[in-house]
Amino acid sequence: MNIHEYQGKSILKSFGVAIQEGIVAETPEQAVDAAKELKVKYNSDWVVVKAQIHAGGRGKGGGVKLAKNLDEVKEKASNILGMHLITPQTSATGKLVSKVLITQDVYYPGASPTKEFYMSVLLDRSKGRNTIIYSTEGGMDIEHVAEHTPEKIWKEEIDPRVGLQAFQARKIAFNLGLSGNAFKEMVKFVTSLYKAYESIDASLFEINPVLKTSDDKIIAVDSKVSFDDNGLFRHPDYEKMRDITEEDPIDVEARNAELNYVKLDGNVGCMVNGAGLAMATMDIIKLSGGEPANFLDVGGTANAERVEKAFRIILKDKNVKAILVNIFGGIVRCDRVAQGIVDAYKNMGTIHVPIIVRLQGTNAELAKKLIDESGLKVYSAIEFHEAADLVNKLLKAN
Ligand code: GDP
Ligand code: MN
Repeated sequence: MNIHEYQGKSILKSFGVAIQEGIVAETPEQAVDAAKELKVKYNSDWVVVKAQIHAGGRGKGGGVKLAKNLDEVKEKASNILGMHLITPQTSATGKLVSKVLITQDVYYPGASPTKEFYMSVLLDRSKGRNTIIYSTEGGMDIEHVAEHTPEKIWKEEIDPRVGLQAFQARKIAFNLGLSGNAFKEMVKFVTSLYKAYESIDASLFEINPVLKTSDDKIIAVDSKVSFDDNGLFRHPDYEKMRDITEEDPIDVEARNAELNYVKLDGNVGCMVNGAGLAMATMDIIKLSGGEPANFLDVGGTANAERVEKAFRIILKDKNVKAILVNIFGGIVRCDRVAQGIVDAYKNMGTIHVPIIVRLQGTNAELAKKLIDESGLKVYSAIEFHEAADLVNKLLKAN
């Protein structure tokens, strides 16, 4: 699950990470009130109006604007609210902005120059360790830095047995070229950032830029926070931060139906019970000359209701030219599943793509008979290769 910048910052702050303070607004009037409040609380004459969408690169797309007085706050908030913001990380149609974050301006000049850094915390799956990635080249596209000046990116691996060590936090501050108070602030920043990452079961933190202000404070100017969905049940308060308007409607529907669904780019939809079988089925589809349109695990209870929900979700994808149902009847009986498929099919009216059903396991023969005699446009198979051949034949015919 991803959340907005303002939500991520509020979590960081609750763990003692210093942030660029801000107030969220949904109308230009609220934006002006927010700016007035920031003036009182933080003595910030200038403010920044920042579009809240689940995508980075907002600055480049015109979704981050500096405002030097209240008139400008109103004008810039009006422009950004309601716009379809297009950034390098959105689709070509962009994302509708319904909230802006009004923040204090933290780039004011002073005793020492400001400096932007890059920092992220993530799980390096190949090493099985959380890793802090950081760079002196903040504020810009980190992929660009990685490609052109990889020597400017450092990694610090965290040993899970002992956690982040004080010497590691100091090493990071040192490598970023800091000294004096800014050094101490960076040590504090890294330590609390890592604590936050571990505590909330995050899968990614990306803070770009981390800013050294002109009075040597270290603060998070941006925040990208992603949760590990498998740990989310432990954090019901954070789960409330979900913004379904930012998510793909098909994903939302699948989650509500408790179906494990991942959309892919191919033309053959698949409905399978069990993640391992789903992977094997996707391989079979590829071998048969098709491309899987999705991963869908209906889980143990493949009853008519779930099967129907799964069909509906698969068919929302207009690229789907055929559906392969591959169910292993271990605990669930194949004839029950077959009946479920027939019922779901009848319930839905006409389905315009061929459905290939492979049922194997308890009562497989009976199940095949049920499908074959149903009079519906459903093709049955028992062996894996039979199913693959059918997919291939039907794709060519359609
Ligand atoms: P992103 O473009 O989606 O990554 O959004 P960011 O939150 O990173 O903001 C984009 C850029 O806006 C930053 O890299 C800064 O250069 C600039 N910016 C952000 N906050 C301030 C601020 O308080 N003052 C000024 N002058 N610029 C800011
Ligand atoms: Mn950023």
